[in-house]
Amino acid sequence: AHSYSQFLPDENAMIAFGQRLITAICQLPSATNSKGITLYLNGELGAGKTTLSRGMIQGLGHQGNVKSPTYTLVEEYHLQGKRIYHFDLYRLSDPEELEFMGIRDYFSADSICLIEWAEKGKGLLEEADILVNITYADTARHIELIAQTAQGAQIITQLTS
Ligand code: ADP
Ligand code: MG
Repeated sequence: AHSYSQFLPDENAMIAFGQRLITAICQLPSATNSKGITLYLNGELGAGKTTLSRGMIQGLGHQGNVKSPTYTLVEEYHLQGKRIYHFDLYRLSDPEELEFMGIRDYFSADSICLIEWAEKGKGLLEEADILVNITYADTARHIELIAQTAQGAQIITQLTS
């Protein structure tokens, strides 16, 4: 499927959705893309991008905290043979910082990149397989997934099957 959307009444629903999403990603027949899987997490401050990431990372078995990579730009987790890179580029002042980090090396076959504020790294990041748009619905949230690649569409199909 090309897109999917869901209403998420509270934080627990967001966490549960993150678990479903990471499960769908891990059920992909094989990494069809040598650049791994890239998700752009879009939404205003406080929308729930980090909460969704926490659901995904803990859903893959991470026991500890998932701290926001606001100051470190990236936090990395090695779980179940995958590398999860959780980026928050909100404070990125100069895209060149990404070059110094060796940003290209983060996009490899076994990696899953979750990127908050991807627009700040425009031109230096791998294109998204899925755009994840989170919007406020009063105190709840609405989430929308839009596939940008064939691999992204496979993930959404898996999610809805
Ligand atoms: P972001 O990373 O987008 O800035 P965070 O995930 O850090 O946002 O914070 C989201 C905040 O919104 C948390 O305090 C969380 O408890 C709250 N919240 C309320 N409803 C929801 C929901 N449905 N999904 C996610 N977070 C929610
Ligand atoms: Mg955040």
